[in-house]
Amino acid sequence: MTITVLFGAGADLWQDYHAALDAAFAGAGLDVDLGMEADPATVEYIVYAPGSPLTDFTPYTRCKAVLNLWAGVERITGNPTLTQPLCRMVDPAMTESMVEWVTAHVLRLHLGIDAHILGQDGIWRHEPSSPVKIARERPVAILGFGELGQACGRALMALGFPVTGWSRSPTELAGARCLSGAGALDAALSGAEAVVLLLPSTPETANILNARTLALLAPGAFVINPGRGPLIDDAALLSALDRGQVAQATLDVFRTEPLPPDHPFWAHPKVTVTPHIAATTRPVTASRVIAENVRRGEAGEPFLHLVDRKRGY
Ligand code: NAP
Repeated sequence: MTITVLFGAGADLWQDYHAALDAAFAGAGLDVDLGMEADPATVEYIVYAPGSPLTDFTPYTRCKAVLNLWAGVERITGNPTLTQPLCRMVDPAMTESMVEWVTAHVLRLHLGIDAHILGQDGIWRHEPSSPVKIARERPVAILGFGELGQACGRALMALGFPVTGWSRSPTELAGARCLSGAGALDAALSGAEAVVLLLPSTPETANILNARTLALLAPGAFVINPGRGPLIDDAALLSALDRGQVAQATLDVFRTEPLPPDHPFWAHPKVTVTPHIAATTRPVTASRVIAENVRRGEAGEPFLHLVDRKRGY
């Protein structure tokens, strides 16, 4: 039986995903009719991305699942017309990419690399009496210890960084200090010299880094946010940077994207802005995840990476 899959992620992404999805469906042994248009009453799965023209899921009465191409689902979970199961993306290549981005920025800040590669002025600043710390002297807290947080934790521990991971429910990762629940947030942040945010954006995680929680970090700590913009109280971060409580921040995500040209983050000497590029979904690997979920749906097996609408992620 041919399975009808609607590509509802928009025309721009169709160029990138059409061939990759066809190949992934064939590789999974699925006979799929994939297109950007279909009679809603015949659609069995929808490949989706936030911001696409598709906003009303009501006519898709036979749809078994909506399969999101992105990891973050905060722009979808509030849609009252979306009653079908919703799966978020866990793409192994995207995870690798996030590990590389986080590791690069932790190492960059840890080693103070900017001081040597920016603004070279012919002055030989060799100060053997004050060597930089080594990784095992620099505790890192990772808020959000799920797919991405744990992968980054493993890589940072392999380099020697002591890692504390914080999640909602208890979790374990060999070698890491794993804390969970709202009551353990302060312990996770206290004394951390770097904090990496890999939480989803939900009402519970909004402004999780604020004036109070930033003050728990070790003085001169680093803030690295590849999670979502609303996790940080921007004004509190700017104040902490100006006072030296936070030495530097590297931010990939923002409350408003693109980050407006007049936002103080752009001009702040202690802030690095990157344009939401920490980890993007890769068509070939992501299409295999989509195909596996369609296969599971057809075989009556549970979907991978099902979103809990009540939790919001
Ligand atoms: P995930 O596997 O769902 O992990 C989320 C983690 O956050 C889990 O450990 C979860 O705890 C924890 N969490 C959620 N709400 C919490 C709360 N109220 N208190 C404490 N912990 C809480 O998600 P993921 O795949 O790692 O992705 C994480 C986020 O990264 C995404 O939501 C997205 O916003 C962001 N992201 C950014 C980029 C980029 O390019 N910048 C790319 C991909 C993803 P439990 O384990 O107990 O549920």
